[in-house]
Amino acid sequence: MNKIIYFDHAATTKMHDQVLKEMIPFLSIEYGNPSSMYSIGRNAKRAIEISRRKIARVINAKAHEIFFTSGGSESDNLAIKGIAYNLKEKGNHIITTKIEHPAVLNTCHRLEEEGFEITYLNVDHKGMISLEDLKNNITEKTILISIMYANNEIGTIEPIKKIGDIAKEHGIYFHTDAVQAIGNVKIDVEAMNIDLLSMSGHKFYGPKGIGALYVRQGVELSKIQDGGHQERDLRAGTENVPGIVGIGKAIELVYENFEEKIKKLKELKNYCIQELKENFNNIKINGDEKNRLPGNVNVSFSKMSGEELLLKLDEKGICTSAGSACSSGSGKSSHVLIAIGLSDELANSSLRISLGYENTKEDIEYFIDCLKEIRKAFR
Ligand SMILES: *Cc1c(COP(=O)(O)O)cnc(C)c1O
Repeated sequence: MNKIIYFDHAATTKMHDQVLKEMIPFLSIEYGNPSSMYSIGRNAKRAIEISRRKIARVINAKAHEIFFTSGGSESDNLAIKGIAYNLKEKGNHIITTKIEHPAVLNTCHRLEEEGFEITYLNVDHKGMISLEDLKNNITEKTILISIMYANNEIGTIEPIKKIGDIAKEHGIYFHTDAVQAIGNVKIDVEAMNIDLLSMSGHKFYGPKGIGALYVRQGVELSKIQDGGHQERDLRAGTENVPGIVGIGKAIELVYENFEEKIKKLKELKNYCIQELKENFNNIKINGDEKNRLPGNVNVSFSKMSGEELLLKLDEKGICTSAGSACSSGSGKSSHVLIAIGLSDELANSSLRISLGYENTKEDIEYFIDCLKEIRKAFR
């Protein structure tokens, strides 16, 4: 078996060795319950608080504004349902977009069943929302704006600061699903007027099953899970101590030498796009060329299914994605690609390549060679 070339960092990432190293004691000798008062309990508690501070520092928040969850999906659920249930007397209207991750979209669908009204904003052909459209949809009943920081399929980065300003001006809370953005862009929740922000450890070289939700001081949420008083009584359940230690180390590492790493990633992405354009006719690069995640390439080939391409590339040891990992297997075209105006046929012929820090120019060259071979055999 050839070595694996991993081009699916938007689906998940390989945990950093140093993250694993930090976690190991908390998977073995440091097994205390953080709520216990004896020394090994206190050690676990201390480790949690160190991790909380590391996360807070990176997004310019305060440590007590960070709450640990089981991942991005739970953070999205807690943010949106937490605000909706807490403010239901004040209003029942939420604004989001058509291109959100299912963790946001399906949470909104659930709330619709319960009597909330949801506006799903359109996006343009690059995946960008319109600020005018956002303003025009705000009513007296609007209690929350939830717009993703960066899209997981096409990599488009939304105008987050401007959205935050609009939300603040109208006295409406602003939640952003920043699961794809953390580790790829610099985020400042103060400067950007973000009230709630979701993140997930496994999308930035940390462990799976651990996430965090930033909740601005003074913003009150209804809890969605009953039990003990962990996480300042917002999120019941004994803390995932190894995961929490891991996500803290991961966020610290991913922002080390950040500019340099991002520059390299962008160069690699641009090289990939350039090679695709030079070697194949009739392809379409989806998403926004400028406001884009540094490692995201989303390309439509005409007349060949993305899934078929994915499977042929897998035979050559290359991991890619046709649509997002969460929607593949459903048989439906990607809701994101449809929202930016692609036909079903073009949407179904798309491939997502999401690059990470371990990828090289040689990986791209091998990928292009393999694609050429696959296309030739297909004709
Ligand atoms: C992966 C992802 C999620 C879900 O995160 P999990 O930790 O896997 O639950 C939510 N939103 C976006 C944009 C994602 O990419």
